[in-house]
Amino acid sequence: MAENIDVVVIGAGPAGYPAAIRAAQNGLSVVCVDSWKNRDGAGALGGTCLNAGCIPSKALLESTELLHRAQGEFAAHGIKLGSIALDLAVMQKRRASIVRNMTGGIGSLFKAAGVTAIFGHGKLLADRHVQVTGHDGSRREFAAGNVVLASGSIPTELPALPFDHERIVDSWDALEFTAVPGKLCVVGAGVIGLELGSVWRRLGAEVVVLEALDRFLAIADQQLATEAARQFKKQGLDIRLGARVTGATSADGKVSVSYTDKSGAQTLSVDKVIVAVGRRPYTADLLAPDSGVRIDERGFIQVDAQCRTGVERVWAVGDCVRGPMLAHKGKEEGVAVADQIAGRYAHVNYDVIPSVIYTAPEIAWVGRTEEQLKSAGIAYKSGVFPFAASGRARAMEAAAGFTKILAASDTDTILGVHIIGPMAGELIAEATLAMEFQASAEDLQRTIHAHPTLAEGLHEAALAVDKRAIDSINR
Ligand code: FAD
Ligand code: AMP
Repeated sequence: MAENIDVVVIGAGPAGYPAAIRAAQNGLSVVCVDSWKNRDGAGALGGTCLNAGCIPSKALLESTELLHRAQGEFAAHGIKLGSIALDLAVMQKRRASIVRNMTGGIGSLFKAAGVTAIFGHGKLLADRHVQVTGHDGSRREFAAGNVVLASGSIPTELPALPFDHERIVDSWDALEFTAVPGKLCVVGAGVIGLELGSVWRRLGAEVVVLEALDRFLAIADQQLATEAARQFKKQGLDIRLGARVTGATSADGKVSVSYTDKSGAQTLSVDKVIVAVGRRPYTADLLAPDSGVRIDERGFIQVDAQCRTGVERVWAVGDCVRGPMLAHKGKEEGVAVADQIAGRYAHVNYDVIPSVIYTAPEIAWVGRTEEQLKSAGIAYKSGVFPFAASGRARAMEAAAGFTKILAASDTDTILGVHIIGPMAGELIAEATLAMEFQASAEDLQRTIHAHPTLAEGLHEAALAVDKRAIDSINR
């Protein structure tokens, strides 16, 4: 006998759990089912982001950057330390405890909101019935008023380089290495590849990044990408562009990676290979053949702009649908769907979604790049302010990089903001808010920014848009 419920959410990642909480806040009865299993076989809430993505990667990026600064920067501040040693076991323990704390926190949020969490597999049947198979083997069926599919994504595997999870690993494995590899190959110079490459480089690994495309960080503004490439090179990341990986063989504890570049076939002998060539939507055994929900040719659940699947009151959000695979994008979709279910107004502005790469320097942007504006034939003005001219950045010993603002030539509306430098991921929030409110460069020019702060870079870049910067030479 099916149990009646207002909403079933399948997946408790950053798209699913906010949908469940908001639906409960809206007075609906909610079940959220999640199939995630940790290495020890125990279920956990939070999905990829909390268990194997955003959170553990940021924990390691923070720890390793501290080590790097202690080794290379403290002396410049006049701080003399004795010998600095890495205790990787402690660093990894800290990472694991942050993850445990955050995933446990979702359980508390669910309890407080009245969401029923079930650890197990959810499958959408016909007529909004959902079959749930618990990790303990128990079976339940729900007759749901609404179903939200939030099943997320998994790492893309290269057929020529299948994961053995020992030497050829995915991003989750790479967050849990118990020893620093001597020589590491990262396949793919995307966001995840660069973050993981930075972590292990800072801990002493020799890191070679192989990227199939000829252009570095093709998704980013190319002025930003050029500066990023320069900084990563200085850090010793060996990034090889136009290098397409074709296979690998393991022998005697080493992996020999084959790739082709413009000079022909190459090989590279390393201790470990992290394959970071992107992620693909995960929908395994999610949909019964008569569920009516359609999957597109790339594996995404088909949805419209409101995240409706086409089957009445069945919605899909997060990495399993089109759009950037980002936690905050999924969260906004999840919340918007839960509000629509309750008959409230909701809207996701897909044009204003910030992107952040948590390397050092950090890289962040929102809106359009210079290349995108050129190819769309949109006339724009550009203002750039270097962190080298920022007193705060100098005080922080972090003067590399710049803030760049692109504004429409005719209306002065801000069209894109691109930052490489200290705390770029935090600074981009102001730019995102400005763009959400359709601010002009003049609006930022007239907004008082505290001195001395990194955010003054946004103020000065806005002034530079009209060649009126005070603290740097207008070009
Ligand atoms: P997921 O987080 O993948 O969650 C889906 C959940 O659904 C999983 O727990 C899965 O087990 C469960 N599930 C799937 N099928 C079923 C089923 N049939 N029944 C029950 N449960 C099911 N994004 C950022 O915005 N910022 C970052 O800094 C960032 N860093 C990242 C670093 C790494 C190393 C990785 C791998 C990713 C990172 N991401 C980051 C991407 C981010 O993790 C994803 O965009 C985000 O997790 C997507 O959320 P989601 O809820 O759609 O899917
Ligand atoms: P992202 O999608 O941001 O995670 O980035 C993945 C990166 O991996 C992209 O820049 C791809 O061009 C790159 N990539 C995909 N396949 C290969 C391959 N076989 N060899 C090297 N790089 C690849």
